[in-house]
Amino acid sequence: ANFMRVIVDATAPGLDHHRGSDLLCVVRALLKKIRRRVLVGDRVLVGAVDWTDRRGMIEDVFERRSEVVDPPVANVDRLVVLFSLDQPKPEPATLTRFLVEAESSGIPFVLVFNKVELVDEQTIAYWEDRLRSWGYDPLFLSVDKQSGFTALEEMLEGQTTVVVGPSGVGKSSLINALRCNQDISEEDPIHKLVEQRVGTVSKKSGKGKHTTRHVSLLPIASGGFLADTPGFNQPSLMKVTKKSLAETFPEIRKALKENEPKKCLFNDCVHLGEHGCAVKGDWERYPYYLQMLDEIKIREEIQ
Ligand code: GDP
Ligand code: ZN
Repeated sequence: ANFMRVIVDATAPGLDHHRGSDLLCVVRALLKKIRRRVLVGDRVLVGAVDWTDRRGMIEDVFERRSEVVDPPVANVDRLVVLFSLDQPKPEPATLTRFLVEAESSGIPFVLVFNKVELVDEQTIAYWEDRLRSWGYDPLFLSVDKQSGFTALEEMLEGQTTVVVGPSGVGKSSLINALRCNQDISEEDPIHKLVEQRVGTVSKKSGKGKHTTRHVSLLPIASGGFLADTPGFNQPSLMKVTKKSLAETFPEIRKALKENEPKKCLFNDCVHLGEHGCAVKGDWERYPYYLQMLDEIKIREEIQ
């Protein structure tokens, strides 16, 4: 079976009693011919709808607001960058890579620390202060103890979310804790085909074939969706350039802002202590900035 599950748009006109229900759809052959990929999270136009058998066909894909490559999900509203306070302990260099990758995605994100029950109050305060000094406002929780979820759940309400982070921090555990099981039962054979979200429905007919994806969006209790697989656990930094790296550091953004209207003397300043640079190297993560800049320079020279 090569179907994609499409959920009927909450705002689709004239379809009040079908809102939120689902249709099993195939993808129109033409879309594949012109190489229009259909991703999980896409808003799609569905035709040839049979409301009794709950079948339809994806006829078109609407423009995307955002796109995550790993896992492939369209229209992601938020990333959860997950770390743990212990087992494994947070590593500033790794944290920085994930934060830079999240910043460069252009998708709003929240930094969350899991496994709070493994450490004492001082350790929590220590990481909170440290991350604040970097320009972030992290949340703290324990998936095991089911504590500290409220703030996160409020933030994810009505949104499509992807959880990213290094391995072992509890991404799969968090996804399992947040998902709600009411909507889709495990025994339901349709469960494995839950692959698409949202669609505006129109009447048309025709036949087509499928696209197979292994990512699904799971409904969460507060309304909204969560990708069923964790995202990148090894930031590629592919979207980051020598020039854009500075914009991914809140410390640099702040230094430039505080210096306004004066800017760095040179337009292409990468803040390495050039003459007339407005950014000083007096902050904790400056060495990481330099390291990553080197890495990106090398990559750009090879390309
Ligand atoms: P992932 O690799 O990021 O997907 O991490 P997993 O969800 O597989 O979790 C890695 C390990 O951490 C598992 O043994 C989990 O049981 C454990 N774990 C997850 N959340 C917590 C927590 O809040 N506290 C503790 N102590 N362990 C947790
Ligand atoms: Zn500069």
